[in-house]
Amino acid sequence: MSDNALLQSRRAAAIPRGLASAFPVFATRADNSQLWDADGNRFIDFAGGIAVLNTGHRHPAVLKAVQAQLAAYTHTAFQVIPYEPYVALCERLGKLAPFKGDAKSILFSTGAEAVENAVKIARAHTRRTDVIAFSGGFHGRTLMTSALTGKIAPYKKKFGPMPAGVWHVPFPVPQYGTSVADTLNAIDHLFRADVEPANVAAVIIEPVQGEGGFHPAPAELLAALRRICDAEGIVLIADEVQTGFGRTGKMFGIEHSGIEPDLVTIAKSLAGGFPLSGVIGRSAIMEAPEPGGLGGTYAGNPIACAAALAVLDVIVEEKLLDRANRLGALVRDELQHIARRNDTIPIGFVRGPGAMVAFDVLKSGGAAEPDPDGTKRVIQEALKQGLILLACGAHANTIRLLMPLTISDTLLIEGLAKLQNALANAR
Ligand code: PMP
Repeated sequence: MSDNALLQSRRAAAIPRGLASAFPVFATRADNSQLWDADGNRFIDFAGGIAVLNTGHRHPAVLKAVQAQLAAYTHTAFQVIPYEPYVALCERLGKLAPFKGDAKSILFSTGAEAVENAVKIARAHTRRTDVIAFSGGFHGRTLMTSALTGKIAPYKKKFGPMPAGVWHVPFPVPQYGTSVADTLNAIDHLFRADVEPANVAAVIIEPVQGEGGFHPAPAELLAALRRICDAEGIVLIADEVQTGFGRTGKMFGIEHSGIEPDLVTIAKSLAGGFPLSGVIGRSAIMEAPEPGGLGGTYAGNPIACAAALAVLDVIVEEKLLDRANRLGALVRDELQHIARRNDTIPIGFVRGPGAMVAFDVLKSGGAAEPDPDGTKRVIQEALKQGLILLACGAHANTIRLLMPLTISDTLLIEGLAKLQNALANAR
């Protein structure tokens, strides 16, 4: 039995099926945009640990900062004995805040925890209860964030009842026939039929839906949400967990729209592979919860803070925002080229800002019908080629590309060649 197969059987015996892995291979080593499995196979990583590795696996600067922190202290609990890296990171995050005026930040461990806390802060500030979210959105797997997530299977199935006071409106996706006007009509309807604006604490939106299929929120929608939130005293939360830290070619995805949110949730690529998340927000809103109302034993762990400070340096020093734009342009060109060929499984709707690029796998016949089975074949074929790909989307037919922004041109070209082969073999 191969080592991967052996680990797979141990895994099946010890771990419940509710935790699904995309692949039956087990990591043993990784470096920037490559990883190796237990059988010694090499892969180019276009998944980046689900958008966590904008600075790649084990960036030398991140490792160095982590090693220095390991030698000093690894945990004190900020609520007991605070430490400088947490403070320094919140100072940096405040300067990066995608809104004008004073900002404060607080740190947690996971994306879901950041979203949970953003909702708590918005409720404390507004003294209101309800939250508006979007169909197709993803915000996490805790109960509140499952409620906010706009997709039933597999996220809410069997887990109800969901926390009350969460309302979904359609997210505009042109290829599904939903427009910005549809979304705004739905909000208008919601305010008349189900919840009065005076009960709404927050609207939460991903500037580009991640798990939902890499659909950018149109600037026109974000502007309308800003107007509604201003008129009704509602807090606008940008969930930047997947879009953050350079992926879209700007530090935060919402910066493409020119719209300023009130709270921003961050995680994933913030700490280059270490568990860290946070909320950046307008100071007046951030101060609403009482002392002791926010926190967590591991929240803002010092090793993760040290890693994040190094990540922020790397983004500047290696000009990763420019790199994201160049990478994205190259990848989109290549995909457009493949989309015009007729010797691969049909693909289309190449989209996404910066290096947050995705495309849909379609049934042949030109009707733009989603092909979820074909998508699975592409991903399996890619694995055989030595390429890690991830699917997403409401119809499970979107392939998203999340290669490290630090990937070399040589490996990018090799990865794209593997992708082409996978698309041809999946036909
Ligand atoms: N928000 C968004 C936009 C996400 O993409 C994710 C994770 N995919 C989360 C929240 C939840 O993050 P975590 O898995 O770290 O809890």
